[in-house]
Amino acid sequence: MYRSDLLSPVGASAGALVHVRDERSRKLGSALYSSASQIAIRLLSSEEITDAALPDLVRRRIGNAANFRRQIAHNTDSCRIIFSEADLLPGLIVDQYNDVVVLQALIQAFDREDLRRPVLDSLTEHFSAASIVERVDPHIRELEQLPPRESQLLRGERSRTIVTLNGVRFHYDALSGQKTGAFLDQRENYAAAARYAHGAALDVFTYQGGFALHLAPVCESVTAIDSSRPALEVAEQNEQLNRAQHRSGEIEWIEANAFDLLKDYAAVGHEYDTIVLDPPAFAKTKRALPTALRGYKELNLRALKMLRPGGILVTCSCSFHVSEAEFLEMLGSAASDAGHVVRILEKRGAAQDHPVLLNVPETAYLKCVIAQVLH
Ligand code: SAH
Repeated sequence: MYRSDLLSPVGASAGALVHVRDERSRKLGSALYSSASQIAIRLLSSEEITDAALPDLVRRRIGNAANFRRQIAHNTDSCRIIFSEADLLPGLIVDQYNDVVVLQALIQAFDREDLRRPVLDSLTEHFSAASIVERVDPHIRELEQLPPRESQLLRGERSRTIVTLNGVRFHYDALSGQKTGAFLDQRENYAAAARYAHGAALDVFTYQGGFALHLAPVCESVTAIDSSRPALEVAEQNEQLNRAQHRSGEIEWIEANAFDLLKDYAAVGHEYDTIVLDPPAFAKTKRALPTALRGYKELNLRALKMLRPGGILVTCSCSFHVSEAEFLEMLGSAASDAGHVVRILEKRGAAQDHPVLLNVPETAYLKCVIAQVLH
């Protein structure tokens, strides 16, 4: 609930458990309060729970979240364990990277010592062999008006490990990299892309090689582009880990601005059989939507023009402000401008360990469309 939805000021301290009533004094349940965020209240339960019962509730929900992941995450040693609202633990994110568990507290409540303790204890109980690292986003702490804190190792000894997604291996370091490091939400999309990929492949916005390393075992050649040199250096180290399975020969890693490079490649007549587009979120706000859609269209149009008949386009958007319908409309318009007939093979979202909570559209941010150029 946004601050602007509150009828009266909240007389509670930062991060407190509060009870919520509607304008007719009907009980709506219990929530975690933030004194700083525009999202003032995050509902935790439709019951009125007490402070004393809160640690147990958190422990139970962590247990449920961990059990659910055991049920659904296959062919991986890494996945998202707690996805905030979608696991009824608003403001808490926990990812498992093999034997390193990474937690992020996004709201004041999960910065409270008396809540951090049950969180850490239950993570230790469910992932007894793992180290636990807290990753801090300084910007979020500032927004929540929390004192600065460094990312740090909380339990165990290691922050670095090797993770295996769909049989493909990646270096992971919890104390460096963007987001929490690897892009776990794309895990199932990597495997899906590899089912259709063939021939000459181009992975645009490769980061540390997520798609490229899944394409290399099935494609004849793979070129991967990113503007970040440090990301490409990790990508090359990841390539070394997987070399033996690669059919493509060496992956060509190119540091460049994707927009410029695609333009140049199209101008000199480069052609591909598989292209992946996985750009950063172009629409960070609702207002940025029209500009974002133009950016997506430019990329998709250039990619479609370079695909041979039968070619596969794997195109993603992680902007939650761009709906699936808007994304498909953009793609349709790019296909007609390119003069191609294109069919959709799969409409996908984030991996199953990132469940979507009905009525919280922010949890359905990732779109991944796999399409084929017929002619
Ligand atoms: N496909 C990746 C995730 C991509 S995240 C994976 O599966 O892991 C987006 C990436 O786009 C980042 O690595 C960022 O460095 C890169 N990037 C952002 N703007 C760019 C631009 N204009 N040209 C090329 N790369 C860009």
